[in-house]
Amino acid sequence: MISSPIIKLIESIALKELKEKLEPQICTTQTGFITGLGTQVHILRLVGKMIDIQDDPYFKSGNWFAFFVDFKSAFDRVDHTLLFQKLLNTGISSRTVNILKLLYNSYHFSLPDDRPRRIKSGVTQGSLVSPLLYDWYVNDLVSNLTGQFGIEHTFAYADDIALLCLGYSEIRAAISKIETWSRDNGALINKKKCGILPIRKREMPLSRKELEGIPFVQTYKYLGVPLDSSLTLKYLEPYLQEKLKKFTLRIKLVLRSIVGTKTKLNLWQNYARCYFDYFSPTIALCGQTSKFASLFTKSLKKALDLPLHIPNDPLIKITGVPSLHQIAGYHLGNTTETIRVRFAQYPTSLNKTTTDLSRAAEEYRALKTAVSIKEVSHGSYTLDLLAEGHGYERDLLGLSTGVFLNLRCVHTLEGPIGSMRICPTCGVEATQRHFLNNCPINEEARNLFRQSISTAVKILAIENDDFTTFFTSIRNLLVGATNQEAAEEGLDSILKAAIKAAKMFVSKTLQACAVNPSTLQPAEQKERKKN
Ligand SMILES: [Zn+2]
Repeated sequence: MISSPIIKLIESIALKELKEKLEPQICTTQTGFITGLGTQVHILRLVGKMIDIQDDPYFKSGNWFAFFVDFKSAFDRVDHTLLFQKLLNTGISSRTVNILKLLYNSYHFSLPDDRPRRIKSGVTQGSLVSPLLYDWYVNDLVSNLTGQFGIEHTFAYADDIALLCLGYSEIRAAISKIETWSRDNGALINKKKCGILPIRKREMPLSRKELEGIPFVQTYKYLGVPLDSSLTLKYLEPYLQEKLKKFTLRIKLVLRSIVGTKTKLNLWQNYARCYFDYFSPTIALCGQTSKFASLFTKSLKKALDLPLHIPNDPLIKITGVPSLHQIAGYHLGNTTETIRVRFAQYPTSLNKTTTDLSRAAEEYRALKTAVSIKEVSHGSYTLDLLAEGHGYERDLLGLSTGVFLNLRCVHTLEGPIGSMRICPTCGVEATQRHFLNNCPINEEARNLFRQSISTAVKILAIENDDFTTFFTSIRNLLVGATNQEAAEEGLDSILKAAIKAAKMFVSKTLQACAVNPSTLQPAEQKERKKN
């Protein structure tokens, strides 16, 4: 309805002035849709303050509460007449107010009899100016609550309001203020969807069911993050698992079929990692990183079709994906800086965690430069495919195809493959070196590999027909190229070709040795059976 480009254009003109005039007047504790502030600001301020409260030597479980307010269709119930009254004396030009009035009068909806009618209330969905107008509409309430409870205990993200209250009396006072405002402004509290979360050191059964019709809860989803009384994030875990499962199911067909590892990784980065980006600051602040780190790597391995037992550290290095620890450090650092700028005070626990993770944040920033190309002598370059300084000498191909590593984990790198001691084709010792370099069954894979490499680069190991060296030296791959650019371009073709060829190597070798890939047991499972 309001997707009209002309309306969007008019709105964008009004929005500029609204931002300039209104944003500075909006209460500090309101962060909804304010330039440069996201949802993380309040999530971290709230959780950080809850931890500070728990850490206070005088803290008694059950004295403090997080009170979450829910308004029934908050945006739709905005009274237009009242909204325009509230815009008087804000410094907004009458021209812009008139534009807004016109806009709001033009928002129509159709009834079945097809007679268009004006909507008398509601800041229309999808509009550019509405979020900011809503912030202003609710600003008197937010200022009032902030005045009573203090900046550090008040959190507003548009209509999402949370308060930290000491004792029932403060909750009652808050309810009374919010109800009065609602009556005067046409809003409606949705009491059943509000929640009072007791702050505790340990989870305990709720001693009370409700206060003035508002339920006490064990968990509440605040700005998308399911929090619990003692901040163990025990409700976030299944919630996140559910989200990841949906990703896996939706993407499964694509993943299993034609796409390459790079595409799989991209899909994972875009559709699964985002959850970890969103939740990781809270996870780190609550000290739960190790619990969630396995969920993180498991999800990555599933997406890349890798066996679950492969070690996590090299996986992270080779895929170039930052660890959960690094992701948390990066986002915490950024958000804490934003909080520092807007608020005079910030939670002690947040400050501490951010400081603790500052190194991880630096590592995150450094990851982008992990692939380095160096000229070692004229015309020859080393491609360092892994982050430097960690000493992992794993091969990229093994990780990319999974099956290679399966072989490597169950059997040694140079030892016989499967139970096969002698190559059934050639009658010589069945080592990985033989299958890679000499066995005729893999001639096709070798040729395919050579043909797929860009002519701009020469891989020196392959020139000598030594695929084993190629696999083991992929961390510092020596290539010949006319210049740095060619070496960089070559990198991509090497990765693509290597992954393709590796799959062939693996399937042909297993076929020749009559090993059924499904009988290859991941090392992890073997250990579990032993226990
Ligand atoms: Zn052979």
